[in-house]
Amino acid sequence: MDLLDTLTAKGLRGEVPTREEALAVLATTDDELLDVVAAAGKVRRRWFGRRVKLNYLVNLKSGLCPEDCSYCSQRLGSKAEILKYTWLKPDQAADAARAGVAGGAKRVCLVASGRGPTDRDIDRVTDTMAAIKDADPEVEICVCLGLLSDNQAERLKAAGADAYNHNLNTSENTYGAITKTHTYADRVDTVQKAHGAGLSACSGLIAGMGETDEDLVDVVFALRELGSDSVPVNFLIPFEGTPLAKEWNLTPQRCLRILAMVRFVNPDTEVRIAGGREVHLRTMQPLGLHIANSIFLGDYLTSEGQAGQTDLDMIKDAGFEVEGAGEATLPRHRADVAAAATGSGCGTAASACGSGGGCGPCGGHEHAPLAGTAPAPASEGADGANGELRDDLVKVRRRGAGTELAPNA
Ligand code: SF4
Repeated sequence: MDLLDTLTAKGLRGEVPTREEALAVLATTDDELLDVVAAAGKVRRRWFGRRVKLNYLVNLKSGLCPEDCSYCSQRLGSKAEILKYTWLKPDQAADAARAGVAGGAKRVCLVASGRGPTDRDIDRVTDTMAAIKDADPEVEICVCLGLLSDNQAERLKAAGADAYNHNLNTSENTYGAITKTHTYADRVDTVQKAHGAGLSACSGLIAGMGETDEDLVDVVFALRELGSDSVPVNFLIPFEGTPLAKEWNLTPQRCLRILAMVRFVNPDTEVRIAGGREVHLRTMQPLGLHIANSIFLGDYLTSEGQAGQTDLDMIKDAGFEVEGAGEATLPRHRADVAAAATGSGCGTAASACGSGGGCGPCGGHEHAPLAGTAPAPASEGADGANGELRDDLVKVRRRGAGTELAPNA
């Protein structure tokens, strides 16, 4: 197929495809799917070998957010029966982080619900990072606290944060249909603040909210232009009790096409399969590893993933290996660009984070598709389930941080 030959050749050179080529990936048929995965796999192996980076989420503060992100189980007015708690103490968060690192995670992602941190919140996270790095100085820390005010990114950087996650989530055109309490421009501003302070920028998207192919391509090109070092690809987890509880617009095949498109547009950037991996890829998860080079280990912020050991077994069975603490994530040329852009010159070649909920994939969105966009074709509905609740596939997190039960790692 000419398209795939072109995309592979460009990807192997680290070149970005045209917008039309990216759209064409999303339009491929199921008969072409394995060829698409194989082409994206060649690009993935060129820049990331067979390594899989593991990231571990610690939800520092869960639920009760005043923002109205309609995909999110922690949003204002959410009736999702998620865990709700205020800030974990530093030692509690460090205990959870330790479990993730012991399970193989190279990066810990510290996430808190809310519009953005107060300066007191930055102090809390500073204490938490110190507790984590006291126990393991090698661990990378990504912080996700919402919209940043002036100098907060600099304070986090000085306190030892390696990265900051803030997802764009969807295209600029459709952002207003998913969130009214802040804007797409607010999100771009925070990613730029983080990057400008020398933090590795992690920013990604959520697919499955009723967006069009054009919206997906728009947000992925926007992330490339922003210089995101890692791109978490979330698949909407439609939580019962949120406006999007019945929005099942994805199939495993559609998810693989989306991942491949993201890989071709970001050939040498960390691409992470984030929230919704188990829910939407299901038995096709191992094929996703041929495209993405990063996943979350164990549970997400407000939902449970498969057992951490199952993640590890899957990686091994599929012929991949867990990336070690001493191994660089990004290829050298890409790490050098990132370091030059941030002025860090740190040389760790580390990429960034990307949460699996909270300010990432926790589920929910207006039940109606995004304003001004066409609903996803019925053929893309998960097992034809669009319009139905699927609480058999969405399991609320009841263990780990904020509970008395051991974390899943
Ligand atoms: S995504 Fe973040 S800001 Fe938006 S409702 Fe959820 S926790 Fe709040």
